[in-house]
Amino acid sequence: MSTVNKTAMFTLSYGLFVLSAQFDGKDNACIINTAQMVTDSPMRITVAVNKQNYTHDMIVKTGKFNISVISQKAQFDLFSHFGFSSGRDTDKLASFSDIQRSENGLVYVTKGTNAFISAEVETTLDCGTHTLFIAKVSEAEKISDDESATYDYYFKHIKPAPEKKQTDAKVWVCKICGYVYDESKEAVPFEDLPDDWTCPWCKHPKSDFELK
Ligand code: FE
Repeated sequence: MSTVNKTAMFTLSYGLFVLSAQFDGKDNACIINTAQMVTDSPMRITVAVNKQNYTHDMIVKTGKFNISVISQKAQFDLFSHFGFSSGRDTDKLASFSDIQRSENGLVYVTKGTNAFISAEVETTLDCGTHTLFIAKVSEAEKISDDESATYDYYFKHIKPAPEKKQTDAKVWVCKICGYVYDESKEAVPFEDLPDDWTCPWCKHPKSDFELK
């Protein structure tokens, strides 16, 4: 029988992006690692977005989104601001000033990024937990010449290293997306989190975490 070694999947490389959309006058954005160009003529990109993300629902309703490509100059607070809370209960853009609007009216992030791409959905593919949006590029522009941040770069150089503390704090890692729950930096020990707590990034349940 064939085996699936999940660590083999970690050898794939990914960029990191702020995915933004707008519905009913409200802006929202989240962090994804799944944007890529699929065709050149016409220029098309794909994004796979978790259905539990509020931004996902906005894209389904409007067929429009922006991608801001995160660069190596990005600070950790960009990731915590857009990645660690849900737009369902917070207005992530109200407290964020490093944005501009593209011609489609949607926001893009101007700091810690090197380009933005606006796209209009042509095809939607239901992938279970995620929806794959295939979209035509309507506008795209460089923001800086800084290099793009890969997922690997983020973990090695942007995400703060866990502080070495003399405690029995444990480090839990999401087997799906690599999100790290470091008890020494959290108010609540992992095992005390509610049963319906989900990974801030990939929304998978607590059971998909393992001790580091
Ligand atoms: Fe996860």
